[in-house]
Amino acid sequence: MTAKIIDGKVIAAEVREKVKEAVAERVKAGKQVPGLATVLVGENPASQVYVRSKRKACAEVGIESFGFELPATATQQEVESLVKELNADPKIHGILVQLPLPSHLDDQAVLGAISIEKDVDGFHPLNIGRLAMKGRDPLFVPCTPAGAMVMLEKTLPTLAGVNAVVLGRSNIVGMPVALLLIRANATVTICHSRSNDLPGICRGADVLIAAVGRPEMVKRDWVKPGAVVIDVGINRIEDPNAPKGSRLVGDVAYDEVAEVAGAITPVPGGVGPMTIAMLMQNTLRGAELADAKA
Ligand code: NDP
Repeated sequence: MTAKIIDGKVIAAEVREKVKEAVAERVKAGKQVPGLATVLVGENPASQVYVRSKRKACAEVGIESFGFELPATATQQEVESLVKELNADPKIHGILVQLPLPSHLDDQAVLGAISIEKDVDGFHPLNIGRLAMKGRDPLFVPCTPAGAMVMLEKTLPTLAGVNAVVLGRSNIVGMPVALLLIRANATVTICHSRSNDLPGICRGADVLIAAVGRPEMVKRDWVKPGAVVIDVGINRIEDPNAPKGSRLVGDVAYDEVAEVAGAITPVPGGVGPMTIAMLMQNTLRGAELADAKA
């Protein structure tokens, strides 16, 4: 069997197009242009690239972006004061604090200072808590897990009753994606660095989500024939044959797993583009929440 490729670029373009149309409709109706504030602390080159691409995506869909850069020496109080100013700014409907923050800063306190109505990354403890509670809904769902769910919804007629295995339990990916799968009525197993017999657990999965940050860890014989595999991992590995001497791979050994899986996301071009598209969707939602309050 050769797996169907779940093309993140195509699905992300569809999501961004819908956001673009909705933003244009808002403008036509005289409503406020959605605004996203990006907060970058320090000069981590990967973070600079991520923030640049998020701001570029904003421009493409008509969302206004406001970039804030603080030096690596910024204090906890300075970062939290900026967040509070942004909370109060009516032009801003989403606040994105790019992680990781320099190690002297308490990232949980910074994320907790973001107004839940502007928490477009969905990392505020209240939004995560609501995600975990029956009968409650978060105002925002974290972007990468939300993107993975859109890809699954496009691939399977239903997630009800499917056996889903999530590799990884981080606050950013593993845990929220597991909570979303439960909300979609899947039966979910969450694995982590202390789990025994990962290959055996994975072989029981109809849907396998890999979010561990270990290059090509998931092998062909870990995957049930026909399973849907969503590879969240982004890992740079050395490759003397690649133009830059390195290349990106996921947490799944793509070539061999694609021979047994029913469908699979590539890296790059899989979950990555979805993350930014979902951020655009969340920022639009932030503007809609602000309309509803006005
Ligand atoms: P974290 O390092 O925060 O979490 C990794 C998780 O994997 C932890 O729960 C850890 O277990 C578990 N883990 C690590 N090693 C093993 C192992 N050998 N066996 C089983 N479990 C293991 O990473 P993130 O969740 O932030 O990111 C995961 C991957 O996804 C990374 O490659 C990252 O680059 C990528 N990513 C991609 C995004 C995208 O847009 N596509 C966005 C965000 C992340 P334990 O809890 O026990 O330590």
